[in-house]
Amino acid sequence: MRILILGAGPAGLTAARTLRDLAPSRSVDPAITMVSAESFPPYSPPAMADHFLTGREETLYWQGKNVCERLRVDYRPGVPVEAVYPDQRQVLLQDARYLDYDKLIIATGSRLHAPLEGYNLPGVYNFKSLAAALELIDHVKHGDVKDALIVGAGFIGVEVAVLLRALGCAVTIVEKQWLMPNILDEETAELVHHDLERRGIVVRQHTEALRFSGRSRVKGVKLVNGDVLLADAYVAATGVKPNVDFLDGSGLDVGWGVRVDNRMRTNLADIWAAGDVAETFDRMSGERYVHAIWPNATTQGEVVGRDMLGFSSDYEGAEKMNSMKHLGLPIMAVGESKGRDTLRRRDGDTLRKIFLDDGRIVGFRLAGDIRGAGTYRALMLKGTDVGRFGEELLDPRFRISRCVSPDVLYH
Ligand SMILES: Cc1cc2nc3c(=O)[nH]c(=O)nc-3n(C[C@H](O)[C@H](O)[C@H](O)COP(=O)(O)OP(=O)(O)OC[C@H]3O[C@@H](n4cnc5c(N)ncnc54)[C@H](O)[C@@H]3O)c2cc1C
Repeated sequence: MRILILGAGPAGLTAARTLRDLAPSRSVDPAITMVSAESFPPYSPPAMADHFLTGREETLYWQGKNVCERLRVDYRPGVPVEAVYPDQRQVLLQDARYLDYDKLIIATGSRLHAPLEGYNLPGVYNFKSLAAALELIDHVKHGDVKDALIVGAGFIGVEVAVLLRALGCAVTIVEKQWLMPNILDEETAELVHHDLERRGIVVRQHTEALRFSGRSRVKGVKLVNGDVLLADAYVAATGVKPNVDFLDGSGLDVGWGVRVDNRMRTNLADIWAAGDVAETFDRMSGERYVHAIWPNATTQGEVVGRDMLGFSSDYEGAEKMNSMKHLGLPIMAVGESKGRDTLRRRDGDTLRKIFLDDGRIVGFRLAGDIRGAGTYRALMLKGTDVGRFGEELLDPRFRISRCVSPDVLYH
């Protein structure tokens, strides 16, 4: 069996590892080939900032630099896929070579989504891949960047702001809503705001960028209010978009991402998709969506590996879940950031908020003290009615056994 994996991120690599781990119990020994547009060993995007600050490699190359050798994966880095031909069971690479497959995994992740004119001008950087991030960091480490301007304050924008500040740049971050609006409610975001300001980062919230201006090179960022902001380096961090362009004409069902069922199968036989490229469904609401976070990518990669070998593998659905440890205070954001009812406790820089609909937890935000996160998440996923506990729930020592026996919860 020839298995071809497109993409060497956490989704693709987890699929490869799962296949290698489980194949012997099915008495098969698949030939696994993995291609990547980038020329590095498989790496962890969340570990890039730490790598640039400390030089550490062990978290960046999270499975070891020689992981492909260990897993007996024929790794072909540095050549993007150009097209997929499912009828011929072939993939065309950009260097005009064809690769044959029996089973195909699409795990090409996501790239910068910048609905902003001028984002592709020379001089506009992004942090969506190691290659892109290196361009910016080389520039910074050569001392060419005294001040940096970041457009977009999602978790990537905030991470880049903190990194560039730590590397000695003056940093301004511009955001049309509040900090990390897709993850945090405005009150929790205020704590992040204070943290960034304490580091000397200038935060301009509720400030919308209109375009990166310039003819042959970026010269500034024009705001909707007409102001123009100038810097030595500009970073676009306005969102991410699945890497699906090369699938045009393949017959695969593609919406925002590659649409898959609850076993990560696409609409075409013997083709699966996993990770940031896959459009799955939300575990709580059932809504179809791309939840571009690490745990979803690795879980989906594992589901693909299991399903391909005929192991039971129903995917439970993607979760909205972010934990931030690189800021001055730990933050845990799970599920929705609002509900019909809110329980709230604030004590200085410690904030706990639990959002409920009809007595059931639909999300929570913890900042400063993230104790209780596991309990709240378990109750949320189970849909347990906790309305009767009211403010007691906010106690970090609240025990799951108060509302349900472990038998009921886990079976
Ligand atoms: C700076 C940063 C910080 C992050 N921090 C967090 C965090 O704290 N917590 C969290 O949960 N998530 C975080 N994420 C998100 C997380 O990294 C992603 O959800 C995860 O990497 C997705 O894995 P993936 O395998 O689907 O895609 P990717 O990691 O994007 O890998 C995609 C792979 O596909 C390859 N590829 C792309 N196009 C082609 C092509 N045409 N042909 C061949 N190969 C191709 C790429 O080269 C790459 O090897 C962060 C992301 C970034 C960028």
